[in-house]
Amino acid sequence: MAKLYFHYSTMNAGKSTVLLQASHNYIERGMQTYLLTARLDTRAGEGRIASRIGIGAPADTFTAKDDLHARIAARLATPCACVFVDEAQFLTRDQVWQLARAVDDLGVPVMCYGLRVDFLGELFEGSAALLALADEMREVRTICHCGRKATMVVRRGPDGRALRQGAQVQVGGNETYVSLCRRHWREEMGDNPA
Ligand SMILES: [Zn+2]
Repeated sequence: MAKLYFHYSTMNAGKSTVLLQASHNYIERGMQTYLLTARLDTRAGEGRIASRIGIGAPADTFTAKDDLHARIAARLATPCACVFVDEAQFLTRDQVWQLARAVDDLGVPVMCYGLRVDFLGELFEGSAALLALADEMREVRTICHCGRKATMVVRRGPDGRALRQGAQVQVGGNETYVSLCRRHWREEMGDNPA
């Protein structure tokens, strides 16, 4: 029975590495996979999923306008054992439903990998829909500098200070993102109750 999976994490937890490894496991067994990533992510160049440890693979890209059910149906004209979606936080709610219908009606498993919350601690649209609709959820874990599990992320400006407002998606800026536990995120965000 095909399922819709959501592997969620904070930044720099290695979710692209986990995705690429899972896809490789199919390919090693002689099966084909279909890789998708958000087009606004230009870190690895268009149409590529890359991990910080140096591995990568070509990928098809999606924008908010794409019908992903149609894209997957077209891809299934030739054998495909599993669909992988990176940067799944950028899916729209409609697109998550398109993926759910692909799982149910086309019988192909879909594995989504994405961030749970943005730098302000708010759910991304795609992640909120996946948390609601996925059959299976798994956390890709990483740690804060203190050793606790990191679940939050801060966006730091060029001066190194955490930004407390701004757009959810910032492309091409020179901000850096640091994953933290909630306690240290609150500290950086100025939430210091007496
Ligand atoms: Zn911490």
